[in-house]
Amino acid sequence: MQTYADMTKEQLQEELTKVRQIYKEYQDKGLKLDMSRGKPSSGQLDLGMGLLNAVDAESLMQAENGLDTRNYGGLDGIPEAKRLMAGIMEVRPEQVIVCGNSSLNTMYDMVARGMLLGYLGQTPWCKLDKVKFLCPVPGYDRHFAVTEHFGVEMINVPMTEEGPDMDMVEKLVAEDDAIKGIWCVPKYSNPQGVIYSDETVRRMAALKPAAKDFRIFWDNAYAVHHLYGAEKGKILNILDECEKAGNPDMVFEFCSTSKISFAGGGIAAIAASEANLADIKKSLTIQTIGFDKVNQLRHVRFFKDADGIAKHMEKHAEFLRPRFELVLETLESQLSGLGAGSWIKPMGGYFITYETNEGCAKRVVALAKEAGVVLTPAGAPFPYGKDPKDSVIRIAPSYPTMEDLKAAAEIFCVCVKVATLEKMLE
Ligand code: PLP
Repeated sequence: MQTYADMTKEQLQEELTKVRQIYKEYQDKGLKLDMSRGKPSSGQLDLGMGLLNAVDAESLMQAENGLDTRNYGGLDGIPEAKRLMAGIMEVRPEQVIVCGNSSLNTMYDMVARGMLLGYLGQTPWCKLDKVKFLCPVPGYDRHFAVTEHFGVEMINVPMTEEGPDMDMVEKLVAEDDAIKGIWCVPKYSNPQGVIYSDETVRRMAALKPAAKDFRIFWDNAYAVHHLYGAEKGKILNILDECEKAGNPDMVFEFCSTSKISFAGGGIAAIAASEANLADIKKSLTIQTIGFDKVNQLRHVRFFKDADGIAKHMEKHAEFLRPRFELVLETLESQLSGLGAGSWIKPMGGYFITYETNEGCAKRVVALAKEAGVVLTPAGAPFPYGKDPKDSVIRIAPSYPTMEDLKAAAEIFCVCVKVATLEKMLE
């Protein structure tokens, strides 16, 4: 395939006329397709239906410590659910509080606690003039929405193939005590699918922040969401690394079963040091008398343990893998070698990131919309929705049927070609 960069102006114009014709043919079909939603397909959700029978009217409702799961009590979760969630994060059960149905909710609460109460006796952030967070980009839009909501200033840190640019992170946190946190999705990052290298995790754990109450928000949302087996997705244990580096209190780790059992109907958890857990419990005990332990019991009875979760996630992978591969094969066959952008093949998680040439992402998303394909808005994976290069597009292959996905991926490629050629001919 001839690279666009090697074409003359006339050839580019000719090519644009050709791809515009193809684009128009797709447009005339009046399709309605959606590649914007990073949520499980109904086929994946069917895999979890056994959860609904895991506890029924005949079941023993006692947890293994004798606690009646139907009643109040057990603020930090039933012991067997702590073990299950610890298994997902590969931490010790005593490092875990099992929370409600959403890890995002738990993260929101942790930022709110920093704001209103302060961590471990430090000044609440709301009393400070300025509070800042580091935001590896591209990243998860809802993380950025939480910090924006609380008026936290967000600083972009570029992602590399090994995680956030650690030279920049180290320098910034050491210099500025207004920087109170960093958002991290360490495994199969949203949206690029990056797996943090051992060096990145070690450097993160060994940070020397100017702020005593600086925290790493370690959102291990895709801890067990492998497409090609667990081996490829191994990362170091951040709690252990922080302990080794003399920073035991510097991290909060989060996870949930939202994309394991039911999205919004699962269980979430936080893992942290003993001191942090005690601090969290001081306000948690005011906030709630306890979370839904019946749901915790249901999850334990259905999944049993970390092995049970791993087996279940293999079934999810069987659904997801062909969808990812279909999109990647389409990108490869349509766009490879054109000089119209790049992408990385993710080993797990929920997204593929396409990076267009500078200044083309918004145009691609708009063209796709006009041809009936909804994509995540360009800019969404950046704080304040602003992609400085206007080049990142998040593709979510999990939800559409294979047939819809095929059409959507093909249309996407045509839109990339049109937008790239238009830009080159400006
Ligand atoms: N964290 C990341 C990185 C996500 O991608 C998502 C959902 O897409 C969530 C958290 C949401 O998790 P939960 O449903 O547990 O709130």
